[in-house]
Amino acid sequence: MRNAFLLLLLLAIVFSCKKYPKKDVPTGYEQPVKTSKVNKGAVKKPKNIILMIGDGMGLTQITAGMYINGNKLNLEEFKSIGLHKSYSSSDLITDSAAGATAFACGVKTYNGAIGVDADTMPVKTILEEAEERGLATGLVATSSIVHATPASFIAHAKQRKMYEDIALDFLDTEIDFFVGGGKKYFDQREDERDLLAELRSNGYQVSTYFDKDFRTVKPTTAKNFAYLTANGEPLPQRQGRSYLIPAIEKAPKFLKKRSDKGFFLMIEGSQIDWGGHANDSEYIITEMIEFDKAIGEVLKFAKADGETLVIVTADHETGGYAINPGSTMDKIEPGFTSDYHTGVMIPVFAYGPGAEYFRGIYENTAIYEKMRAVFGFEPMSN
Ligand code: MG
Ligand code: ZN
Repeated sequence: MRNAFLLLLLLAIVFSCKKYPKKDVPTGYEQPVKTSKVNKGAVKKPKNIILMIGDGMGLTQITAGMYINGNKLNLEEFKSIGLHKSYSSSDLITDSAAGATAFACGVKTYNGAIGVDADTMPVKTILEEAEERGLATGLVATSSIVHATPASFIAHAKQRKMYEDIALDFLDTEIDFFVGGGKKYFDQREDERDLLAELRSNGYQVSTYFDKDFRTVKPTTAKNFAYLTANGEPLPQRQGRSYLIPAIEKAPKFLKKRSDKGFFLMIEGSQIDWGGHANDSEYIITEMIEFDKAIGEVLKFAKADGETLVIVTADHETGGYAINPGSTMDKIEPGFTSDYHTGVMIPVFAYGPGAEYFRGIYENTAIYEKMRAVFGFEPMSN
C-alpha cells in the first residue's frame, strides 16, 4: 500500500515535470542555447525592426557626444554590440550611398549607387520586400528624404544626385510614413509633375513645413503620411531644426497600427556626417546628442512593445575625428585627419528580440542578411 502510494507520487512528479518543463524558468530569462551549432529554432523573431543610422557616426562621434552629454547616452542600454566593415565595391572608403545600399539590399556596390548593384542593376530593398509581405514601412531623416541614405531603401538610381528620379520612386511603393526635407524635388521639378499632389491622390496625408509645427500635426490612421520638412536640406539641430523627436514619437505607433504583420522603419541622424565634413566638433556633438535622444524615444517604444528589434549603426566614420589631449568631459579638443569619410570599422548596437545575432565582426552587407533572417524572410545562414 505504502509502496503503491510512493509509486503514484513518483508518477505524478514525472508527469508534472513532463507537462511543465519550463515552469521554473523565470520569464524574461534567456534560455541557454546549446553550444556547437547556432540554434536556428531558438531565434526570437521580432515583429518590427527599427534601423537607426547615424551617418558618419564613428566611435569618436559617439564618445564625444557621451562626455558632453554628462558622460551618459541612451546607447549604453544596448548589450549586443558588434562591428561592421564598411568598404564598398569601388573603394575602401565608402560613401553614404554604397553604405546604405549594403544595409538595404545586401550588396557591396560602388560609391554613389542607390539601390543598385556594382553592375547598376536594381536590387530589391528590405523596405520594398517588407512592403510586399504586408508589413508597414517608414523612413525618417534629418536630411532631404531623397538624400543617399534614405533613398537607398526605396529608390534605384545609378547616381545619388538624381534627386528628381529618386523622388519618383516614392510613388512606386506604398511606404506608409516618411519624414524629411527635399520638398522641391517633389513639386518644383523639371518635368513639371507635382508629386505631392500625386501622393495626395494616392491616399497620402501630405504635410509640409508651411503647415503648423509638426508636434501639432496628427497623422490619421486612414491614410499614409508624408511630411516634407524643408524645401531643400533641413537646418542643423543647433540652428533650430526640431522635427526629429516629434517624428519618432509618432512613427512607430503609427506603423504599428497600419499592419498587424509588423513594420520596418529606418531613422537617420543625417547631419552627424555633415559636422564631420565641416571638421566642426560642435556640429558633430549637437547632432550626436539629438540622435541619442531619438534612440531614447525608440527604446521607450521598444521596451513597451516587446516585439521590436532596434539596431543602431553608421554607414562610415567622417572626418577621422579624434579626442585629443587637453580634452575634458566638458570640452573636447578635436582633431581631424580628413574632410571626407574614413575606413575604420563601425559599431553596431542591437536591442530586443534577435539582438544577439548582431554580435561579432562582419561585413556591412551582413546587417541586411541578419535583418531578413530574424524577420523570418529566410533561414539563418550561419
Ligand atoms: Mg546620409
Ligand atoms: Zn559624408
